[in-house]
Amino acid sequence: MGRELKSSKLRSEQISRRLFFCMIVIIFSIFYLSIPLIINSYQEYIKSEQTLNEITCLRALVKTANKISRERAPSNKMMSSEPNVLLENQKELLEYRKIVDAEIDNSIEVLKQNGFRLIAYELETDLKVKLASARAIVDAYTSTPHAERTSKQYDHAILSMFSVWDESREFLTWLLVRSNSKNSKMSNYFTSILVLTDMRDQAGRVASNVMAPVTFGEKISDENRARSLQTQHQAIYLWELIDTIQPEQSKTLEYVDLYRRVKTEFLDKGLPIIARLLDESKNNKAYFLSGTQLTERMVGKFTPVMDLQNYILDYSIQVAVNENKFAKRQFIFTLIISSLSLLIAIFTMIYAKRKVFSPLIHARNMILRLSGTSDELPSGKNNKEEFVSLFEAIDKLKGMLKQRDTMELQLKRIANSDVLTGVANRLALDEYIRLLESKPEALSQTCVIAIDIDNFKFVNDQYGHIVGDQVITMIADQLKHNVRASDLIVRYGGDEFLVVIENIQMTAAKVVAESIRSAILKEQIIIPNAAEPIQVSVSIGVAIGANSWLELLEKADQSLLKAKAKGKNIVET
Ligand code: GH3
Ligand code: MG
Repeated sequence: MGRELKSSKLRSEQISRRLFFCMIVIIFSIFYLSIPLIINSYQEYIKSEQTLNEITCLRALVKTANKISRERAPSNKMMSSEPNVLLENQKELLEYRKIVDAEIDNSIEVLKQNGFRLIAYELETDLKVKLASARAIVDAYTSTPHAERTSKQYDHAILSMFSVWDESREFLTWLLVRSNSKNSKMSNYFTSILVLTDMRDQAGRVASNVMAPVTFGEKISDENRARSLQTQHQAIYLWELIDTIQPEQSKTLEYVDLYRRVKTEFLDKGLPIIARLLDESKNNKAYFLSGTQLTERMVGKFTPVMDLQNYILDYSIQVAVNENKFAKRQFIFTLIISSLSLLIAIFTMIYAKRKVFSPLIHARNMILRLSGTSDELPSGKNNKEEFVSLFEAIDKLKGMLKQRDTMELQLKRIANSDVLTGVANRLALDEYIRLLESKPEALSQTCVIAIDIDNFKFVNDQYGHIVGDQVITMIADQLKHNVRASDLIVRYGGDEFLVVIENIQMTAAKVVAESIRSAILKEQIIIPNAAEPIQVSVSIGVAIGANSWLELLEKADQSLLKAKAKGKNIVET
């Protein structure tokens, strides 16, 4: 018994181990599928975050470059000033320089915050220095007395301001080279912004390149004319390029309107002013504008360029923000779905183990134990054979249950029958009575035939109890022969029998009783060492219908007593 328990425990442990192994495999599979998904979506999210940071830096640098470009306007205005407005223009320039400085500081801060520390450092150490030296040249020119000034000095000051912008443009290129987003879908916006920055500066240079000779009323030199024409072409070329680069789906109504305004304002209205000045110089005519007037006329013409640039900047930032939101949602979604799948798998496994497998293992062990089949399998037995042994155990158990049912039936039969004759005993009769009394209408048509052997004591006394038993057996046999199988034969007392017949009339009942009586009388029992076989008779009382069983039995008993009193071997009702 102990060994059996131990082996079934071992077997269960083995099944649990297999289940645990399956769980591990499933959990690892989920891990294997979800981890790359999580990593991928996380990388996408980080990338979108980086794009957003980079475009923020780009916007700050572009604004700085534009401000530096725009500083040329108040610088030129101051350098071209008549003495009476010099102070006023000087004040205007100083105010504007403060704005530019603030913008540079802001860019440095933004670059630092977004991880471009080296560019921020260079801005601090290089750009600021270059700007300071260009401003010094501008200031030196302004402090030179009017009579000593030359257009060459003025042009030099203008060129030094150009070089500051060139420097800021370098930083923009540097940022783009270091940018991780240049390979993303944002790259077109990056290029557009850069091209617009270039265009804005080139547009400004168209006027600046002729500023010195116009201010001095001198003829425009070939070099200045070439520079001016070159920047004009450059500006037109860049304007056309913007529309080529801009993604078709991003050409909104606002974009189209702004793009068109660059042409109508700057190309159509700004450039002819310069063309006229170049023409006047060629034809040795007086210029129709002074240097200051030229600056003032041209400044407003760049507004649409700036507006278009701002629009594309804002639009691209919006695209980057949306991308970032989408990537974040995607990452969170992947994370939640993966964790949920994992949790559901683990929960299902635990649930299956507790609610399905453990009860099954328990049931299996019980079946094997109940059937007496050993749970130990010889090594080399496979799963199929294991199942076969389980089914064999179930079959064995079924056989055992069947056997038990048969035995139960047999026991019941033994308990309900008379040992000597095999007919029903008082116990069986009691059960029958209970059934009969549950349907009183049946009792009214039920017949009881009471049979008692005549002078049986004499048989016992004369031939002994064994012969007496033989007589009793013979009577039972004759009863069996003369009634239907559905009728009940009961050995009621020592030599007394009852036959119960349902649904019968008195005439028919008397016929049955008579046939019993005559059949018994005809029987002869041969006894060894006796001269003659013995014969016995029976007295019979018949009764049909009563209010209760006891009443019916009483009636039959009375009839039997009557038969005995009348001399025995007769049927009485
Ligand atoms: P009566 O004609 O009035 O019925 O007279 P009787 O001698 O048959 O008297 P009664 O029916 O009272 O006696 C029954 C006898 O049956 C008494 C008892 O010794 C005997 N007897 C009871 N059971 C058995 C049995 O199982 N085997 C044998 N051999 N005799 C039994
Ligand atoms: Mg008797």
